Amino acid sequence: CGIIAHVGDRRALDPVVSGLEKLEYRGYDSAGLAVQNGHGLDVWKCSGEVSELKETVDDVETSANVGIGHTRWSTHGPPTDRNAHPHTDSEGRVAVVHNGIVENYDELRESLRDRGHVFTSDTDTEVIPHLVAAYLDEGYDPRAAVEASVDELEGSYAIAAVVEDEEAVYAARQGSPLVMGIDDDRYFLASDVPAFLDHTAEVCYLEDGDFAAVRPDDVTIENGDGERVERDVERVDWQ
Ligand code: GLU
Repeated sequence: CGIIAHVGDRRALDPVVSGLEKLEYRGYDSAGLAVQNGHGLDVWKCSGEVSELKETVDDVETSANVGIGHTRWSTHGPPTDRNAHPHTDSEGRVAVVHNGIVENYDELRESLRDRGHVFTSDTDTEVIPHLVAAYLDEGYDPRAAVEASVDELEGSYAIAAVVEDEEAVYAARQGSPLVMGIDDDRYFLASDVPAFLDHTAEVCYLEDGDFAAVRPDDVTIENGDGERVERDVERVDWQ
């Protein structure tokens, strides 16, 4: 239902949590976040309100500068802690937040199960981190692994993914909104501008089919045909 991500030279936790609070107006039943701490991923998530998640992470000391967060409006599986996003693969190498529906999740999950993957949630989303992990196992680099996984998804979605030890957020959209915020020394990705408007009003709207690799000092965007594209940067005038 709502996505926020942060990549840059500052601590990610606070802007991710405040981004989730700003997205609360969209309605949700669960919330969660993941940060990339330089030696793996840390994930916190729960059903219920963002304030509960906030309490859980309040005392967390992390200097992680890459993070993703999610408010969930469940379509596949009840609103439980286990079904809250981010979802991960079995080893916790990949964490994914997702809005929308993966129409072909059943088929993807069966094929992954045949290859030994064990699923722990009722969501359609969980196939995504498992797919990415399968591509990593095949020797794909993180960016290529996420991109190849996105190519397998049918349906409408916006996703943001982090991979352990990679200072990057990978993002894709098809039918669900995703906008990038550009600050002096960091980038945001979100379902909607208010999520990061306290920090920057410079925005860049991704288009359907876009795949973005966002790093602290550089962003590359490919369109649905795999061609490198530039998207316009504009200044929003929101009160
Ligand atoms: N289909 C996913 C789920 O049920 C994502 C729902 C959403 O957009 O929040 O977990």
